[in-house]
Amino acid sequence: MKMNRRDFVKAAGAATAVGLAGIPHIALANAKKVVVVGGGTGGGTAAKYIKRLDSSIDVTIVEPNDAYYTCYFSNEVIGGERDLDSIRVDYEGLKAHGIKFVKDSATAIESGVVKTAGGTDVPFDRCIVAPGIELLYDAIEGYSEEAADQLPHAWKAGEQTKILRQQLEDMKDGGTAVIVAPPNPFRCPPGPYERASQMAHYFKQHKPKSKVIILDSKQKFSKQGLFTQAWEKFYGYGTDDSLIEWRPAPDGAVSSVDADSKTLVYGPLEDEITADVINLIPPQRAGAIAQASDLADDSGWCPVDQKTFESKQVPGVHVIGDACIAGKMPKSGYAANSQGKVCAAAVVALLNEGEAGVPSFVNTCYSIVAPDYGISVAAVYKLGADGAIQAVPGSGGLTPMDASADAHKREVQYAYSWYDNIVHDIFM
Ligand code: FAD
Repeated sequence: MKMNRRDFVKAAGAATAVGLAGIPHIALANAKKVVVVGGGTGGGTAAKYIKRLDSSIDVTIVEPNDAYYTCYFSNEVIGGERDLDSIRVDYEGLKAHGIKFVKDSATAIESGVVKTAGGTDVPFDRCIVAPGIELLYDAIEGYSEEAADQLPHAWKAGEQTKILRQQLEDMKDGGTAVIVAPPNPFRCPPGPYERASQMAHYFKQHKPKSKVIILDSKQKFSKQGLFTQAWEKFYGYGTDDSLIEWRPAPDGAVSSVDADSKTLVYGPLEDEITADVINLIPPQRAGAIAQASDLADDSGWCPVDQKTFESKQVPGVHVIGDACIAGKMPKSGYAANSQGKVCAAAVVALLNEGEAGVPSFVNTCYSIVAPDYGISVAAVYKLGADGAIQAVPGSGGLTPMDASADAHKREVQYAYSWYDNIVHDIFM
């Protein structure tokens, strides 16, 4: 659906408590420039929705890659249920909306200009930064970006996903795969546990004497009751023959790794384990450009006005997606997509001397634990009186513990449909 400026003003007026007077007149008089750093889930959404809300705004995405691999459903690639191409999206759809691309990495954001590694300066009236996460390789002794070729994190989809899948295929029956799960906060809280499920499903079919061990630096995890119930049902969880073992902190906390021997040291007693495959997901913080541009605080994440996503530290620059601090919202693709739309509407309003409306947000995280067996957690969010995003009481919730087989099957169908819809919503 195409929306002209008049439709937008009407829709925005109906949807928000604050009017957006002035948009048609001022926007037509002068093309404003928005630069979006990062053509991923949050950045792609914001860029597309700015164009849809006000096509006179000049929108440029700075992104080093030719295509985007969604992390969502990358666990199914790792489990052998789909191929890598099925999670690849190119940028032709966004270009068709009139969005320009600079194929480069942003290295600095200063005085109304995004600077790139290749030496281009891209000027802006407002900038939206959506770089995702930076992986803190140094946090675990012996790990490094280079070591990730041997011990993949696969927490940014693409080449890393392929490496991990290949290692599982090459592993002998009777082998051990270890997932090192990161501390909070991190991208996709249910992700490591969905991944363990997908690996166990693959082992059950092809390498039944094998096992996946999760070494965790946390004592609990997202959808834990639902995951463990499903693991008991499908993977013998809790028995001697279980395909999945979970070791929580402090016993499961990994302190160092030797990449060549694939040995991990973990727990207060400095136990050692040598594995055939190590999927080491390190601690995280906001993407490097956020650190370099003073957008992040001491926590490593970016404080923003949660109504507009404008940085609390750098005026005129907004941060969305995994990189920002968004109250109770998890670091998920659906959250980044929801924030991208709210931020787009706020940026269009602010560029046209209007005021941002009062936002609401939505998130659902599906996890596929076995074929035809999905679980989910969902919520609607709003701004609290303290300005922080909070879940609307009674909205959403978890898949019930006593859900029927049919209900779990439907969750998988909803998950697949969610995937098609969100990819279309962001990139097409
Ligand atoms: P990204 O989507 O990572 O986009 C960041 C973009 O910025 C990238 O394209 C990158 O190349 C670019 N970039 C980085 N630095 C620069 C720079 N300096 N200059 C220019 N460009 C730059 N979420 C869900 O909602 N549902 C799921 O089922 C789900 N499953 C997941 C499974 C796994 C295994 C993982 C790891 C994540 C999953 N997620 C899921 C989470 C989701 O992928 C992220 O939360 C989401 O991608 C965050 O969006 P973002 O825009 O912040 O970052």
